Amino acid sequence: MLIGVPKEIKNQEYRVGLPPAGTRELVSRGHQVIVQTDAGAAVGLPDEAYTAAGATICGDAQEVYARADMVIKVKEPQAVERAMLRKGQILYAYLHLAPDREQATDLIESGAVCVAYETITGPGGGLPLLAPMSEVAGRMSIQVAAAHLEKPHGGMGLLLAGVPGVAPGHVVIIGGGTVGTNALQMAIGIGARVTILDTNVDRLRQLDLIFGNRITTQFSSANALERCVASADVVIGSVLIPGATAPKLVTRSMISSMKKGAVVVDVAIDQGGCFETSHATTHAEPTYVVDGVIHYCVANMPGAVARTSTFALTNATLGHAIALASKGWKRAIADDAHLRAGLNVCEGQVTYEAVATALGRAY
Ligand code: NAD
Repeated sequence: MLIGVPKEIKNQEYRVGLPPAGTRELVSRGHQVIVQTDAGAAVGLPDEAYTAAGATICGDAQEVYARADMVIKVKEPQAVERAMLRKGQILYAYLHLAPDREQATDLIESGAVCVAYETITGPGGGLPLLAPMSEVAGRMSIQVAAAHLEKPHGGMGLLLAGVPGVAPGHVVIIGGGTVGTNALQMAIGIGARVTILDTNVDRLRQLDLIFGNRITTQFSSANALERCVASADVVIGSVLIPGATAPKLVTRSMISSMKKGAVVVDVAIDQGGCFETSHATTHAEPTYVVDGVIHYCVANMPGAVARTSTFALTNATLGHAIALASKGWKRAIADDAHLRAGLNVCEGQVTYEAVATALGRAY
């Protein structure tokens, strides 16, 4: 199969859909890979690395879309890219179609076979192609919190780790899923005191078994939140109720009870945020202050560490890319129900229930 890798054109998107290592895996299985020039340049993956892996570099996106049997990319195609898709061509990318009627309509009209990373399921449950970005955001949350506690960034001037004779900072993590657990690992690693809250007692049991008395686990109730938030130097918001907007667990009055110059990181902002005082920010202007508390609420945190995010994402996407290329999409989805769950639009038909419902179309 001929696989095409275009350069991402969405604003502030530096990731690339296939790195040279993945290119080599596909080429070694007899496939051809064409890569748009500079597709990986922003994350330190030059054209020469792709050529060395067996790819052919081509000058523009038109050529990639015109020749490829399968287009592998990161973000949903923009209007100009959608116009280049054709019937029967495989598109393999994050699509997030349910809230995006315009894109969904274009993809239906294109006749392409559209496989969305975010709805592919995993044998152990969950959404394995979303998990790497939660890992990145969770780990990054402590990094940004630590930086914003520093005076030059407006913080209270606290070193999260403390030093011998000076107590470390207190990190409170609300939600012990993928984001929360990765934040927890970073916070412990840095030497902070950590409290983690969840409503899922089984999850708290697992965390207790893994991390023992290096952490405090706490059932998430309004009382517990009030107490923990008031004593925190950093609060990480990492709750998720699947399919719903995030609950506003931390109220304005809880925020105003915090120390001046404390930091809150609302990772759940892409689902509306779990602090009453949150609103989405961008990497260009990531923070704002409410009642003396610094709020970091960037909706696409992994974009800031696009190199790591590229590798983390493509580690998770490559296996299905190989299956799609080697078997063809029909056999690949027949053989794998988890990959089948990723098929959102297929040759003019909506094939994913939530997207069909959102668009009011037959499924
Ligand atoms: P997850 O499903 O793995 O974990 C969510 C956890 O929240 C679960 O353990 C759940 O039991 C817990 N929870 C639910 N209600 C709670 C409550 N009232 N109190 C405490 N805990 C509660 O989800 P995840 O992958 O960790 O993602 C968390 C959020 O981060 C999601 O909204 C996701 O979209 C978002 N996210 C944002 C970015 C970004 O760049 N901002 C990147 C990746 C993920």
